[in-house]
Amino acid sequence: MSQTILIVEDEVAIAQNLCYALATDGFTPVHVNLGQAALDMLQSDQSKIALIVLDVGLPDLNGFEVCRRLRQFCQTPVIFLTARGDEIDRIVGLEIGADDYVTKPFSPRELVARVRAILRRQLLPVAAETPLDQVPERFELRADEARIFYFGECLTLTRYEYLLLKTLIERPNFLFSRAQLMDLVWTHAANTMDRTVDTHIKSIRAKLKLINDQDDPIQTHRGMGYSIALA
Ligand code: CA
Repeated sequence: MSQTILIVEDEVAIAQNLCYALATDGFTPVHVNLGQAALDMLQSDQSKIALIVLDVGLPDLNGFEVCRRLRQFCQTPVIFLTARGDEIDRIVGLEIGADDYVTKPFSPRELVARVRAILRRQLLPVAAETPLDQVPERFELRADEARIFYFGECLTLTRYEYLLLKTLIERPNFLFSRAQLMDLVWTHAANTMDRTVDTHIKSIRAKLKLINDQDDPIQTHRGMGYSIALA
């Protein structure tokens, strides 16, 4: 599922370039010219927006003020676009709740890479956080042998199936988005798609089912991703 990125920028050429770069990379860009328009949009439904790209120099409210106001009701990540060095001092020095900044002129590709990096860091906890060394009880991970056991039986997995299942069982209860799984598992592969993850999950499920057809430990979160429960 495509994530929506809100661009708050009054310079049309910059906004268009950014929208194009984000759409090319699989995001859904939404563009507004004014700070107040961004605040109104977030106030009506902030859950739709995955990340905000916020220009500091806007015609109505400046970006710092927009960020200060939106932090009162939402924690959506913010990347500032800034044109001047002294603005960077304010972003870095003051705790205005920005996640990153980019100075103009910038390459849209670089900004898209920053967007990806921030979204990747946001692992969504499904339930209470669990210690990382705890794998779900019916699994046994022997990382040095690159093997995973399920109810005591060794699974025959392809390289990517192994890496995918390992990623899920090493962080039980964490909801991984498809994009996160692609970044973590298919680190060197170009042109992977959301469907790649789904296809591999399907084949892992089939292999788990051969050993125990009652358990079905991989949970699908519609439109969001996958997780494995600890117990
Ligand atoms: Ca501007």
